[in-house]
Amino acid sequence: MKLNSVQLEQVDKQVKRILASDSYYGKIFKEAGVTGVNSQEDFEKIPFSSKDDLRNAYPLGIQVPPDEEIVRIHSSSGTTGRPVIIPYTKKDVDDWAIMFARCYETAGVTKNDRIQITPGYGLWTAGIGFQAGCEKLGAMAVPMGPGNTDKQLQMMIDLKSTVLTATSSYALLLAEEINRRGIRDQIHLKKGIFGSERWSDKMRAYIERELDIDLYDIYGLTEIYGPGIGINCKGQRAMHYWDDYVYIEIIDSKTGENVPDGEEGEIVITTLVKEGAPLIRFRTHDISRIVPGECPCGCKHPRLDVIKGRSDDMFKVHGVNMFPSQVEELLQHVDGVSSEYQINIAHDEEKNKDVMLLTAEAEGRVNFETTANIIREMFKSKISITPKVTVVPVGTLPRTQKKAKRVIDHRDL
Ligand code: ZN
Repeated sequence: MKLNSVQLEQVDKQVKRILASDSYYGKIFKEAGVTGVNSQEDFEKIPFSSKDDLRNAYPLGIQVPPDEEIVRIHSSSGTTGRPVIIPYTKKDVDDWAIMFARCYETAGVTKNDRIQITPGYGLWTAGIGFQAGCEKLGAMAVPMGPGNTDKQLQMMIDLKSTVLTATSSYALLLAEEINRRGIRDQIHLKKGIFGSERWSDKMRAYIERELDIDLYDIYGLTEIYGPGIGINCKGQRAMHYWDDYVYIEIIDSKTGENVPDGEEGEIVITTLVKEGAPLIRFRTHDISRIVPGECPCGCKHPRLDVIKGRSDDMFKVHGVNMFPSQVEELLQHVDGVSSEYQINIAHDEEKNKDVMLLTAEAEGRVNFETTANIIREMFKSKISITPKVTVVPVGTLPRTQKKAKRVIDHRDL
């Protein structure tokens, strides 16, 4: 999707503000010879930005306006190395709340709702984002924060909370607890709004069924405001995103080139009006696609498909992008098969095609040959790849403490 004329002007303004500042990106842009953005071509010449940049600029190197304009910072937890600090101006905080309120509205939440907020408050952007959006909308916030399940359920019952906001893993825990205690008839929940971490269809179906609520995935990341830059509408899985605040490109992770609408690739986000820490062409490593055409709901904002995985985990066979999560998702439907598997990918030079060998584990009670056939047909019909499948007894594949390396690509060797 190309920049429209309004977005083009906004990006040009952002880039010029960055250039005029003594910030980290001001220097990078000057070195790269960036002067402004008059066309899509100009824009696509601007170097990508990344989380590594933000770490290098720690703590406040990416701040563009003077200190007196900054009202708050947030930080994304660094699992490796230094954390990332994002400064916000008053307008940034307001804009984020406006976007978040729009997310609630898209999910059909109204002023009459009571929103129980269970994500954490503090340095990260979750709890406070859910709360600011709730207040902007005019609904009642029940600001619980995470944990303390007894109190959580007590408040949910006594205050008749109608909307649950949570991480999907915490929502699952609450659903299980409500089920275990047999208190569903005392719960008034109608909707669940969950951070769009990747979660399995199985988990989704369980929460939907046990709590009898509509589920919504909210998208966002700390580097770009926080959660709230997009959400799915009722009955749809794709998420509308707010293109008056962010511009989204989908790129080929390897080449960095834009891919046509509808094709899968890495989400790259540009903030259009952010003041404190504007980001141009920020690589998220999230994989999705722009869903072409208009949404049946009538909302004019463009759509991103469900986040499929991380580009770091992606592998390609016969030109088809695949993720370990997809393999897990498929295998869990096969009777007797464990969650352990291994994939070897090689290139057959003679036939000039990729070969995918899948080793799966199965319990002794099932027929290994039949199971291998079921898995092969399933891959063929669901993802158009026909692997060579070997089924071995449970316990055969190596177990490691660390995240097991399940995909071995011999083509890179
Ligand atoms: Zn829609």
